[in-house]
Amino acid sequence: TEMERYCIGCGAKLQTTDPKAAGFLPAAALAKADPEGDIYCQRCFRLRHYNEVADVSLTDDDFLKLLNAIGESDALIVNVVDIFDFNGSVIPGLHRFVGKNPVILVGNKADVLPKSINQKRVTNWLTQQAHAQGLRPIATMLTSAKNGQMVDELLETIEEYRDHRDVYVVGVTNTGKSTLINRVIKQLTGVSDLITTSRFPGTTLDRIEIPLDDGQSLIDTPGIIHRNQMAHYLGAKDLQLVSPTKPIRPTVFQLNPEQTIFLGGLARFDFVHGQRNGFTVYVDNQLMLHRTKLENADAFYEKHAGGLLTPPQADEMGDFPELVRFEFTPKEKSDLVFAGLGWIVIPAGQTVAGYAPKGVDVLMRKALI
Ligand code: GDP
Repeated sequence: TEMERYCIGCGAKLQTTDPKAAGFLPAAALAKADPEGDIYCQRCFRLRHYNEVADVSLTDDDFLKLLNAIGESDALIVNVVDIFDFNGSVIPGLHRFVGKNPVILVGNKADVLPKSINQKRVTNWLTQQAHAQGLRPIATMLTSAKNGQMVDELLETIEEYRDHRDVYVVGVTNTGKSTLINRVIKQLTGVSDLITTSRFPGTTLDRIEIPLDDGQSLIDTPGIIHRNQMAHYLGAKDLQLVSPTKPIRPTVFQLNPEQTIFLGGLARFDFVHGQRNGFTVYVDNQLMLHRTKLENADAFYEKHAGGLLTPPQADEMGDFPELVRFEFTPKEKSDLVFAGLGWIVIPAGQTVAGYAPKGVDVLMRKALI
C-alpha cells in the first residue's frame, strides 16, 4: 500500500501511473526513496539537475526578449562568469540590457587557480575586465561552486543588495551556473516549495524560481551558448581540459625566438621574435605540451595532430577546424588567451603568435597573475 507523499519541489501529490501528469515518479524510484526523507517528482528531479532546461544561443530572439524583460524589471542581477575563461563567458552588451539594475559579478571556478594566487588581485582584475566590457558591478566575488568557497558570502552579498527585489542569475553555459544554483538551493533548504518553474513572459524559455523568505524569488535563467567556446570542438572524454578540476600547476618554458609549443593538437604558440625569455603556460595539468622548432612546426602538426598531439583524437580530426593564426607584440606583460583552454604569459615587447581552431578566439589581455 502506498502512503500519500508529496514532491518537495512542486508540492504535487506523488503518483506512479501517469508520466504526463503532475507528481509522476517511476514506481521503482519511489520504492527506493527514503521513507522519511525528501522526495522529488521526476520532473522536479530533472529540473534540479538541469538537464531539461534548454540552453539558448546568444542571438536567440527569446533570449534577447528575456534580457530586455530583466532590464525592465526592478531586480538584482547576478552574472556568473568562469574565471578560467572570462572572455568566453562574458555576455556581450549585458550592461545595456540590465539598465539601471545592479549587477553582482561572480567569478566561479576559483578552485582551479594556482594555490599561490592572491584572490584579492584576481578580484580586482575581474572588476577591471568587467569595466572594459562596460559592465560596472556593485560587487565582484570569487566562488567555487565545486567546493562551496564563498557561497555563503555570495548569499550574504545578495541579501545586502537585494532590497526586497527578485534576483536573476544569468550566465553562459559551462560557467558552473547550475552547480552554483544547486549549492544555493542546498543552503536555502528548509523552504518547502523549493522550486517552481514557469516561462518567461513572451518567450519559450523556462525559468526556475527559488523562493526567498520575503515572497521574492531567485530566478535561474537558461544557460546561454557562446559558440566560440573551445568546448564545442572537444569530444566527451577531452572536455575536462576546458573545465579543470584541480588547481593549475603552471609550466615555465625558457624559449629562444623561433620556437613553438603545441597545446595538444588544440592550439599552438610561436615565439616569433624577441629575446630569450621565460613563458608561463596556464592550462589543465593533463594537456600535453610539446616544444618544437618554428620552422618545422607546420609539418609537425600536419603529421602528428590526432596522434602525438591529442586532443583532438584521431577519429575526430575529420571534423576538427583548421588552426588560425593571430600575432601580437604586447607593450606590457600580458596573457595570450586561447579562449576556454587557458593562457600563456608574454613578457613585454616580445612578438608571439597564437593559433586556435577557426571560430575560437585568441586574444591579448592584461596579465591576470
Ligand atoms: P552551466 O552550464 O553554467 O550550468 O555549468 P555546470 O554547472 O553544468 O558546470 C560546467 C562544468 O564546470 C561541469 O563540468 C562542472 O563540474 C564544472 N564546474 C562547475 N562549477 C565549478 C567550480 O566551482 N570549480 C570547478 N573546478 N569546476 C566547476
